[in-house]
Amino acid sequence: MINLFDIQKARETIQDTIHTTPLMTSKQLSEKCGNKIFMKCEHLQKTGSFKIRGAANKVMHEARHGAKYVTAASSGNHGQAVAYIAQQLGIKAKIVIPEDAALPKIHAIRAYGASIEKCGTTSTERIPRAKEIAEKENGVFIPPYDDPYIMAGQGTIGLEILEQMEHVDMVLVPVGGGGLISGILTAIKESKPCVKVIAVEPEIANDTYLSLQNKQITSIGGSSTIADGLRTSQPGELTFPIVQKYVDDIVVVSEEEIRGAFTFILERMKQLVEPSSATVVAAAMYRKLGVENKQIVSVLSGGNVELGKVEDYIL
Ligand SMILES: *Cc1c(COP(=O)(O)O)cnc(C)c1O
Repeated sequence: MINLFDIQKARETIQDTIHTTPLMTSKQLSEKCGNKIFMKCEHLQKTGSFKIRGAANKVMHEARHGAKYVTAASSGNHGQAVAYIAQQLGIKAKIVIPEDAALPKIHAIRAYGASIEKCGTTSTERIPRAKEIAEKENGVFIPPYDDPYIMAGQGTIGLEILEQMEHVDMVLVPVGGGGLISGILTAIKESKPCVKVIAVEPEIANDTYLSLQNKQITSIGGSSTIADGLRTSQPGELTFPIVQKYVDDIVVVSEEEIRGAFTFILERMKQLVEPSSATVVAAAMYRKLGVENKQIVSVLSGGNVELGKVEDYIL
């Protein structure tokens, strides 16, 4: 378990490496939602997603303990974040990506100076490979969410929100493996427990929803949701107990609702965010929260979108 102090320490560690991201509002969106909506703009974060917070906290910790080499298994935001922070610290990184990874993602990882190895098409193949490389070459494997330093790094978003908002009633957080929400929950519930924290998942990637219902970690098969950052098949061993302990509620949104929110954010607010981030706006837009006239923060977790896919995402 992590605690508030771990998150405060993480903040000191990473604050010169990351942006304190702004909060954005939209009158039109607030009217549509029947609540005052604020968006925490992690799509404007270094590397285009919040993942740099956890990656920076973890890799800096390992570097202090002598690590000269790190590996990760992700073609997405986590891979880019690990590549970026390793380059900043002058240590080597190898990112294991799927055979079918999209070119723009490969280019982004290369641009951050990491080397790449292709392996299989699923994380079941990639993760053991990235661990194996780390072991053989005296490096450290950096997990995407189920790690105390990663979780504490992501939790720094919670501290920022509480400082930036004089009054906040509710925070909406998208859930994949649960690193982001477990950090934010710890930050908020251990300093201002009256603030509600609501988890949001795609209906067709509802592993955390089912796990909460079953009161134990429950695995779904793969998912084809357009919210590709939320496709994890089950919550983490370390993240789930925190979600179970602190989360106020979990709501699910359909693929069509995700696309509706994506379209609104792009067309009206001129922001390009990932479908994973559109989920939290969808929860408010399609009135899944059961509250009115509240001050609600939606965490826009990332903005790394392949432009060729935008057409599939709009409604
Ligand atoms: C990783 C990611 C998530 C989910 O975060 P977890 O820590 O896995 O729950 C949400 N949105 C984006 C954009 C991500 O990259």
